[in-house]
Amino acid sequence: MSTFQAPKGTYDLTPPRSATFLAVREAISAPLRDSGYGYIETPGFENVELFARGVGESTDIVTKEMYTLTTKGGDQLALRPEGTASVLRAALEANLHKAGNLPVKLWYSGSYYRYERPQAGRYRHFSQVGAEAIGTEDPALDAELIILADQAYRSLGLRQFRILLNSLGDKECRPVYREALQTFLRDLDLDEETRRRIEINPLRVLDDKRADVQKQLTDAPKLRDYLCDACKAYHEEVRALLTAAGVVFEDDEKLVRGLDYYTRTTFEFVHDGLGSQSAVGGGGRYDGLSEMIGGPELPSVGWALGVDRTVLALEAEGVELDLPATTSVYAVPLGEEARRVLFGVVTELRRAGIAADFAFGGRGLKGAMKSANRSGARYTLVAGERDLAEGVVQLKDMESGEQSAVPLAEAAAELAKRLG
Ligand code: ATP
Ligand code: MG
Repeated sequence: MSTFQAPKGTYDLTPPRSATFLAVREAISAPLRDSGYGYIETPGFENVELFARGVGESTDIVTKEMYTLTTKGGDQLALRPEGTASVLRAALEANLHKAGNLPVKLWYSGSYYRYERPQAGRYRHFSQVGAEAIGTEDPALDAELIILADQAYRSLGLRQFRILLNSLGDKECRPVYREALQTFLRDLDLDEETRRRIEINPLRVLDDKRADVQKQLTDAPKLRDYLCDACKAYHEEVRALLTAAGVVFEDDEKLVRGLDYYTRTTFEFVHDGLGSQSAVGGGGRYDGLSEMIGGPELPSVGWALGVDRTVLALEAEGVELDLPATTSVYAVPLGEEARRVLFGVVTELRRAGIAADFAFGGRGLKGAMKSANRSGARYTLVAGERDLAEGVVQLKDMESGEQSAVPLAEAAAELAKRLG
């Protein structure tokens, strides 16, 4: 193993590709920020108990994928594998739900950790942007979140994604379905582990990716046929609102998702260019989660979109984001005196809000101009001894190639004017 290798299943974000990640985070969060969602940040780790209760003891995340650790003080912690449980925990701790303004709408962005088998699109450290709307049961809220995710992906230029939609029922109708499903599954030819899953989390069996399992599930009872009237009406309203908004979705009665706490609306965004790691994001309603972690009844809905897979989706579709150059002006000093003077101009430009950079290290004109080109700067400022003696700097427009002498004292103002 090389000394400079990131841990297995992880990778670094480095320029220039890292700029795309920032732009994706920005694009996903922009519609949320414009829709009343406030930013929340929680620790990268929590008491392991929170996830055991709030994600579910029967999920792969808790049983197999969680990074747990015991601190020197004896606390049992886990690196966060997902965001919802932490965000709800933090909202309850801060009493946000008591401020009288429901739903509490929050968005977050950060790193998540799962001990998974690394492969394309599946990492041990990945990044999500998520949203949670806490404390209100209203189909318009479910619709809002799906519409905002759709808007985010469209704003990035993604087109080959699909929205899968389902309802998981509630505490009235889901248990009846669960039992019918268990009865059906117990008669199938399944391995030991899957048989155990039938008893603790039978809906997850529907999510099994193996073809020989899927083949046996064709005649499985459908949750749709078991939904109670209230769940049916709720789901129809979500569908109607999405349709009215022009958001295209597919009904997918097999969609169950990995977490235990989902009720009613559940959805996934899949991208067709990603092979087997096709889910770019997902979410749903989790009316029982607050009580599960010891809080009051707070029906809520949320989603998390994977930043890594969204970037892969952009690459799969060949979408080039229109990322503006980070540097507008690049200064190239020739000689000691020019170095001091131009460094001053760069500082002045930066303070005026103009992105500027500088040829450090006293390189020659040729190397410095190469860096200027690479920076994407629209203008370069070049000055040598003779320029300074005349009280000017050479201002070069990198697009047109035109160059003119500008009085040193006016250089910053002239650039500000030209850059609008
Ligand atoms: P999968 O079925 O692919 O394991 P999941 O259901 O476990 O996904 P969620 O918990 O819903 O995923 O997380 C939401 C999003 O976070 C996913 O759609 C995906 O984009 C991203 N994500 C989840 N796990 C990983 C991972 N190990 N590496 C990269 N991205 C991930
Ligand atoms: Mg997973």
